[in-house]
Amino acid sequence: MSLLVVGTVAFDAIETPFGKTDKIIGGAATYAGLSASFFTDNINLVSVVGDDFPKETIQGFNDRGIRTEGLQVLAGQKSFFWSGRYHNDMNTRDTLATELNVILSFDPIIPDSYQDCEFLMLGNLMPSLQMKVLDRLQERPKLVVMDTMNFWMETAMEDLLKMIARTDVLTINDAEARQLSGEYSLVKAAQKILGMGPKYLIIKKGEHGALLFNNEQVFFAPALPLEDVFDPTGAGDTFAGGFIGHLARTRDISFDNMKRAIIFGSAMASFCVEKFGTERLLEITNDELENRVQEFVDLVQFDITLV
Ligand code: AMP
Repeated sequence: MSLLVVGTVAFDAIETPFGKTDKIIGGAATYAGLSASFFTDNINLVSVVGDDFPKETIQGFNDRGIRTEGLQVLAGQKSFFWSGRYHNDMNTRDTLATELNVILSFDPIIPDSYQDCEFLMLGNLMPSLQMKVLDRLQERPKLVVMDTMNFWMETAMEDLLKMIARTDVLTINDAEARQLSGEYSLVKAAQKILGMGPKYLIIKKGEHGALLFNNEQVFFAPALPLEDVFDPTGAGDTFAGGFIGHLARTRDISFDNMKRAIIFGSAMASFCVEKFGTERLLEITNDELENRVQEFVDLVQFDITLV
């Protein structure tokens, strides 16, 4: 029984009010896989890179228990590249470049050893490729979580809607929820999006936390007020990796356990933003994670008597 993580493995160039990077390692599956590796060691990766991608990084995935038999390295081709610039509030960003490169010729092959997939994290990727992965699994996983972004709403809406209809949990940010639904109110947006097929919807609101909806219930988790936010890149994928990592570790997909999964995901994301790229994620210790989860509990705990 394993967790399959799919999505981009990439180079990013990032500008924030605190600095600027050249090409560093990024990608949705990179962040989601590394984050999930804190919760379970049974992780399989499906993605694609060019031969410009560092072998040490792939070795680093393996060292953290992420198997890479399904990570294709395409000779003579360039890895996916994304570049973004954050505004002063760090909650909004402009995409400066999206170079699909290897993604354009990617045919996701699922190794036989991956077929025992119980949890599927379809990280941000071309929706037709996300769909191919699901089609190529002999049995539908117990839980399919998918993430996407505005880029695919603008370039592949038809495929995206087909993929959303086949997913159990959709995670998107507040601006994307508004774009997808055409509704400003997030409650109305959630109703509309749940009508598109997913059983659960998570709306990520950056420094304002995250909302989990199904047709009957809503849960809200705050984000920790942090002193230093250097780079929000990958926070959404890190959140998703922690979320599904906790569910895969406990093998419990009840709404109550999803609430706990959201807290674990939020805790992981709160580390991610403290340094550029994946740097902080790679340093987290179990004690730090435990303390941070406790900070979440303390943040929202209060006594109240209704008169
Ligand atoms: P996040 O900040 O969680 O939205 O994710 C940022 C990561 O997503 C970066 O590391 C990028 O490499 C990756 N990314 C950016 N645009 C796309 C896209 N259109 N499809 C897939 N991955 C993307």
